Amino acid sequence: MELLSLAGLLDVQTLDLQIDRLLEKRESLPELEVYKKVHTELQDVEAKRDASATILKQLELQLDKSEGEFEILETKLNEHETRLFAGGMSARETEFMRLEVQGLRGQRDAMEERVLQMLEDIDPARDEVKSLETEIEAANSEKTELEASIKREWKQIDGELARKEDRKKEAVHLIADDLMELYEKLRRIKEGVAVATYDHNVCGGCHMAFSPAEEVEAFSSDLPRCVHCRRILVA
Ligand SMILES: [Zn+2]
Repeated sequence: MELLSLAGLLDVQTLDLQIDRLLEKRESLPELEVYKKVHTELQDVEAKRDASATILKQLELQLDKSEGEFEILETKLNEHETRLFAGGMSARETEFMRLEVQGLRGQRDAMEERVLQMLEDIDPARDEVKSLETEIEAANSEKTELEASIKREWKQIDGELARKEDRKKEAVHLIADDLMELYEKLRRIKEGVAVATYDHNVCGGCHMAFSPAEEVEAFSSDLPRCVHCRRILVA
């Protein structure tokens, strides 16, 4: 195994660790966390808005119906009163009509009161829907801003990633295939660190010391490995 190849492997690992960090950064942007929170809150507010809007709709329908009934009563009352004003009826008919008018007035007044009460009830329901819609609007614009900011950061990170990947490709080119295979395998099981520097009798991967005999043994191989953690060693 050539020394050049091993030193190159250390370069590949440096790039790989930088790529790992960039990927990690990409997935853990603080904006992503906020976005998730805003998204969940928005769903809650939308559900509340839908429920309030349903109640409002029912109140509006009831109001509509009562207003219609009020108008019918009023029209009927007017007709009866007109007939009373016009006169020409028998005393019995007049008395009957007078009582009818009295009854209709009572019904109309009661209906008017009911309509006024409904109008009073409908106002807070309208206000609630309106305020929930304002909240939804605010959450949506916050989401839009966060999306833009996430896209901006991802674009920058992806640019950096592409540059690192290009450099890695060049570095990998200089390394033998079987060494690369071993490197990838070790990286998977050694927390991303397959190659360690060997300095002052100590492995830079596991930080354990070598005895002189262990050192001789490890470095007599064309692929020196740590006797403790089995990482590839670069002296
Ligand atoms: Zn080691």
